[in-house]
Amino acid sequence: MASPVEYEPIIGLEVHVQLSTLSKAFCGAKAAFGGAPNSYIDPYTLGLPGALPVLNHRAVEFALRMGLACQCDIALRSELSRKHYFYPDSPKGYQISQFDKPICENGHVEFVLRGEKKRVGLQRIHIEEDAGKNLHLPGGRTSLVDFNRAGVPLIEVVSLPEIRSAEEAAEYLRALRQLVRFLGISDGNMEEGSLRCDANVSIRPRGQTTLGQRTELKNINSFKYVQHAIEHEILRQIDVVQSNSKVVMETRGWDAAHGTSRSQRKKEQAHDYRYMPDPDLPPLHIDPLWLDSIRAALPATPMQRRDRYIDRLGLSPYDASVLTAERELCDFFDAALVASGVSTDSESVSEAQCSRAKLCANWLSSELLGLLNKESRDITASPVSAESLGELVRYISDDIISGKQGKEVFSRMYESRETPTDIIERLGLRQITDEAVITAACRKVVADPALAKQIEKYKQNPKLLGFFVGKALAETQGKAKPDLLSTIMQRVLSEK
Ligand code: MN
Repeated sequence: MASPVEYEPIIGLEVHVQLSTLSKAFCGAKAAFGGAPNSYIDPYTLGLPGALPVLNHRAVEFALRMGLACQCDIALRSELSRKHYFYPDSPKGYQISQFDKPICENGHVEFVLRGEKKRVGLQRIHIEEDAGKNLHLPGGRTSLVDFNRAGVPLIEVVSLPEIRSAEEAAEYLRALRQLVRFLGISDGNMEEGSLRCDANVSIRPRGQTTLGQRTELKNINSFKYVQHAIEHEILRQIDVVQSNSKVVMETRGWDAAHGTSRSQRKKEQAHDYRYMPDPDLPPLHIDPLWLDSIRAALPATPMQRRDRYIDRLGLSPYDASVLTAERELCDFFDAALVASGVSTDSESVSEAQCSRAKLCANWLSSELLGLLNKESRDITASPVSAESLGELVRYISDDIISGKQGKEVFSRMYESRETPTDIIERLGLRQITDEAVITAACRKVVADPALAKQIEKYKQNPKLLGFFVGKALAETQGKAKPDLLSTIMQRVLSEK
């Protein structure tokens, strides 16, 4: 009997992403999460006779942003089609979607899996509208329908079956969420249903090139469960095959509460949906000039920003991943970099600039995020602004204050929201780097007759240097730059 390792899982994901437009895909009703049931509706949302659709320009722009960021082929002419099915949450009796002429095809999504860069190809990205929500009351006799979500614009991102493990599927999905957030087209909130993932899973004996029968896993509505649900399905199929049965084409619903999946229905074929171009919506033509302007204004992707941090600024892959996890954090870091004096646009960044960038990364990820995490606050609620953090790094890099003084300034910044400049001025913290001043302090210490014996001892034992450095540091109220002071003290003592 074959053991699990002799099967290769083949996984493709279909991800529905809710676009964060103000109004719905084909009418002016508000598109928002929450709200009293059936408060964001209008005649079109309810499918009332005579109400006609008008395509939301912004939804198309958002779909194009995603297509461009994923390097898709963009169709300058695509079609909106009706996908017929009867269900209470779909008042028109069909969903407007795209069938054989989607707006984007091909392309790929990039992500990092166990430290290695990976790429999963896309089959297509198309625009469609969301359905309403059914609510089944306990007792099984009453169901309610809320149409607030009906007609909210979505893009469906369909990957090629190129994913080879449940872990890889989870990383792909994380990257997709991160990407839509960086592009500003969705909040990517899985818990609120802004991101919904269906997985097509099949297995085949390792070495076989044809695909096995797949099943479609629905309802994976939390990041926690993506990996778990797919792993479970892989093992279930192996079990079926090993007990000499056949995997059947079906839709299975993931039941997170019981950690298992259940057959929901035998899967429909495309012709069951009786797709047809929507007679109320003309073909969608994209003006190439508009497309160019969207391309020109496209925000950098998390992967581009990660690469820049590693390749240009010399940050570690780990730091780069932490800083690009969220758009807000990444923007904060970029603003801190600028304030610290690192120019992020230039082609080559000097070594000094790289160490300044590294310092920014450290202050942000260990000091600031450390404190924020302790209080369960995120970066947008930081009492220290990006500009202030960058300024602090600049003072330290320019040797105006020491790293130790920096910690004190930082904790005051965090408590009082004051700028580092104000704190440094108020506390008179400026570090002394003037060699003449430091030399004078060293000479004064060495000239003290009470220390004559210590100086003799120092000549036998250079480890006593620290004793004199400490005395001279006290002379400068602790403000002399420590390593400079140490060098000068050594020189002064050798003159004795
Ligand atoms: Mn869909």
